[in-house]
Amino acid sequence: MRPEGIGEADWNDAGWQMRHRIRDAEGLRAFIHPTDDEIRAVAALADRFRFVITPYYASLMDPDDPECPIRRQVVPRMAELDDPAGLADPLDEVAHSPVKNVVRVYRDRIAFCVNNECALYCRYCLRKRMVGEPSWAMKKRELGLALDWIRATPEIRDVLLTGGDPLVFSDERLDWLLGELRGIPHVEIIRLGTRLPVTLPARITPELCRVLEAHHPVWLNTHFNHPRELTPEAAAACDRLTRAGVPVGNQSVLLRGINDDAETMKALCEGLVRLRVRPYYCYQAQLLEGTAHFRVPVERGLEIFRALRGRTSGYAIPLYVLDTPYGKVPLTHAYLRGREGDDIVVESYDGRLWREPNPLDDPEAPADPEASGDPAAPADPEAPDET
Ligand code: SF4
Repeated sequence: MRPEGIGEADWNDAGWQMRHRIRDAEGLRAFIHPTDDEIRAVAALADRFRFVITPYYASLMDPDDPECPIRRQVVPRMAELDDPAGLADPLDEVAHSPVKNVVRVYRDRIAFCVNNECALYCRYCLRKRMVGEPSWAMKKRELGLALDWIRATPEIRDVLLTGGDPLVFSDERLDWLLGELRGIPHVEIIRLGTRLPVTLPARITPELCRVLEAHHPVWLNTHFNHPRELTPEAAAACDRLTRAGVPVGNQSVLLRGINDDAETMKALCEGLVRLRVRPYYCYQAQLLEGTAHFRVPVERGLEIFRALRGRTSGYAIPLYVLDTPYGKVPLTHAYLRGREGDDIVVESYDGRLWREPNPLDDPEAPADPEASGDPAAPADPEAPDET
């Protein structure tokens, strides 16, 4: 809720929100009753990972509950100092950069980290090594060098603008950048990775939507993690984007105590579909410095997404993935149980087994049971679950 004393016009102005971001424990007190741990962590972590929150997002926090899923995403905790295994760059992005802030893992697409600023800083951010850090900022000359590299690399057909957050750029700068990319014949699609519909929905103005619309095909993935983030303001921002013809997807992160239960994940994904936002990926949290308290065992993640299968629309089920330096790896329950003779055996969402005739690649070739891998599990509904 908007705090007293702040006019509606200011509150709904992205510039005002950015200028009035919370940057210290004193600022936090206007929205919550911070715990001793939170106050100590704000000071102790000041040099490690920047702490900034928009007033809009802060207004979603529960003032009295330190376990509030909004609050835990953005307010520091001393637990961030207790993570001996965490790495600064778990995906080895620096080694995958042919030119500053361009990350290339796949042959035909890149992540182009055009900006190191965000509206706020998520405590589990994969790029916490660079967001808010001046040395990672892209000057216009450096953006130009990256654009030159894309021009000279004809196999790149898909460019993801990310950061940081590309929509922190002004409309003019974004228009220029999109225009430069659109002028490269082999760049077929441009994608934006942005959390602003969640953290600063006022930034999704009609003017911004017109800029995006002028450079289609432009796709956008945003980043909701919890159903409480699905506010009327966020819904209106997503609606403006989809009406401008921008397909909107969502990439969440599986976070301990925030969304690591099937009920919360289902409410989030169904809420997104109601907004015409497609749940696209849910990431396993990386082995990232300062985030041990957020990580969830993969087995729990598999249970969560298995619990959704068959119990909500397919549109509402994102692909659960582990990102690695070699690319994204889908993490799924083994619904395909194997081949039995001419059949494949599959498992339904509620554990029943089904056989289906399955043609051989070459019907003339004699069936070779060894070539088809392990024979299917027996059609036994009590068979142990492979996850
Ligand atoms: S908005 Fe995205 S890039 Fe920015 S801090 Fe959060 S996770 Fe990182």
